[in-house]
Amino acid sequence: MKSTKLYERDFKNSFKKKIVKKFAQFLSKPCRNCGKERLLSAIDYYLGKKHKCLQCQITSNMILPVIILIFHRLSISPATAGKIGDVLSGINCSSAC
Ligand SMILES: [Zn+2]
Repeated sequence: MKSTKLYERDFKNSFKKKIVKKFAQFLSKPCRNCGKERLLSAIDYYLGKKHKCLQCQITSNMILPVIILIFHRLSISPATAGKIGDVLSGINCSSAC
């Protein structure tokens, strides 16, 4: 028999999982204006590249703290992040082209 605290913890964990899942789905979808995936735009923005698309720029500004936190937690340097972005862009181009 579960106590109330365990139910609260289960609820909080399931709520966090739903938020993370929605966030990941949001990042994996392409921008409506330019068609570039939001995650790639955020990595480009993290690396200091400017966006031509205003929507990507706004989205990247919102995502940037999370990207910085994830890269910091995983000890990913900006150089490695650039390589990850290049690989993801290559995968994206080869699947879309
Ligand atoms: Zn865009």
